Amino acid sequence: MKTETEDALVPKYVRTTNPTAHKSHECCECLGTINVGEKYEYVTGLWGTKHDWFRTCLDCTLVRARFSRYINYEELPFGSLRERMRKEKVTESELLAMP
Ligand SMILES: [Zn+2]
Repeated sequence: MKTETEDALVPKYVRTTNPTAHKSHECCECLGTINVGEKYEYVTGLWGTKHDWFRTCLDCTLVRARFSRYINYEELPFGSLRERMRKEKVTESELLAMP
C-alpha cells in the first residue's frame, strides 16, 4: 500500500508547458525573478488531493534535469532542488559540467 507521502510526491497527472512570462514571476527553485518576456517552465498537476503549480526559470530547469540524472531520477519535489543538492554535496557548476 502506498503511503500518503508517496501519493503527495508522485502526481496523479502533470502537465508541463514553456510559456513566455507576461508578468514577472518567482522561480520556485532559486527564488529569482522570471522577467517579462523570458521563457520559463510551467508545471501544473495533482499531487495527492492537492492541485498545485510551479514556475521554474530555465537555468534551474537545466540544473534540475542534470541533478535528476545524478540521483538516478529519484522523485524530486519542486522547490527542494537546492536543498537536495546541498545534501548530495554537488554544486551547480559540477552538474552543468556533466556531459
Ligand atoms: Zn531559478
